[in-house]
Amino acid sequence: MQNANKAGASKRKAASAPLLSVVVPAFNEEEVLPAFHSRLSSILSLLDMEGEIIYVNDGSTDRTIEIIQELKRKDSRVSIVDLSRNFGKEIALTAGLDHARGDAIVVIDADLQDPPELIQELIKQWRQGYDVVYATRTRRDGESAIKKATAYGFYRLIQKISRVKIPEDTGDFRLLSRRAVDGLVQLREQHRFMKGLYAWVGFPQKAVFYRRDSRYAGQTKFNYWRLWNFALEGITSFTIAPLKMATYVGLFTAFGAFLYGSGLIIGTLLYGNPIAGYPSIMVTMLFLGGIQLITLGIIGEYLGRMFDEAKGRPLYLLNLYEPAELNKRAFGETMKIPD
Ligand code: UDP
Ligand code: MG
Repeated sequence: MQNANKAGASKRKAASAPLLSVVVPAFNEEEVLPAFHSRLSSILSLLDMEGEIIYVNDGSTDRTIEIIQELKRKDSRVSIVDLSRNFGKEIALTAGLDHARGDAIVVIDADLQDPPELIQELIKQWRQGYDVVYATRTRRDGESAIKKATAYGFYRLIQKISRVKIPEDTGDFRLLSRRAVDGLVQLREQHRFMKGLYAWVGFPQKAVFYRRDSRYAGQTKFNYWRLWNFALEGITSFTIAPLKMATYVGLFTAFGAFLYGSGLIIGTLLYGNPIAGYPSIMVTMLFLGGIQLITLGIIGEYLGRMFDEAKGRPLYLLNLYEPAELNKRAFGETMKIPD
């Protein structure tokens, strides 16, 4: 590890320009990667910073890894983090951040929906002293009305119920300072709602606005089921409000039942005991049964996550470890390091 650090450091120009790391998660992105890389490198060459580009291959089943290896052969700024299978974007990002050495780190999608040109603006704000400069989209092209509407609703909901401030209409595209990343990589939870984690870190944060383009090529990997699960992840990792809500719904129904019961008793005392209707019993039973199942389900969502955390598994494994290029800070999350 020590040697790896030294080798990494000596590759950089002696204490001159600061280093910018760009972390790019890629899952089956063979169609876009070459175009992405050329656009990104032309931006990087305009900067007065050194650059490193970390492609994270998230268990792609197409030629993504070959393409990245080809890019690395041609461009010395490229390094590769090759995950042992598909772990999902959140973990892929974490793996990239674990390996980033930069003084500032940019996280960007490979599909050119996040314009690399914006990096210059992000850096400008970082130089002003902001630790997290996030790109907030003013417009989303090429996405359905339903997706836009659900995204809108989700951001406003999570804003209301969570304790940390999660900016609306903001994806993963952002710049993080060294200390923000150092903070972030210490959060090793299995269920990673990255947008929440960035916010949890704190430090001065700043929004930069941009227009989100549609995908350059290839297909989105996020269907509605995944988006729903993503929303659940966001809510359960940042608030226990649903658990508390169960208590209040329970109290409320119990109170209603008490009132109804009192009414029945008074009615019986005043007017005798006519046979109560079958429908009202069914409705009450089904209503209460439903509430109980929903409440159990909510508890289950949290319990399941506790189960996953309790196992304490590493977040990911790597196919290949390159100590000379990659400075692995997170401990014990890789296959044996070759000497
Ligand atoms: N991605 C990934 N692992 C996954 C799914 C996606 O690394 O399991 C990457 C993908 O290659 C892309 C980024 O995450 O660089 C965003 O994915 P996508 O464009 O499919 O999401 P959307 O933009 O539709 O939200
Ligand atoms: Mg996309």
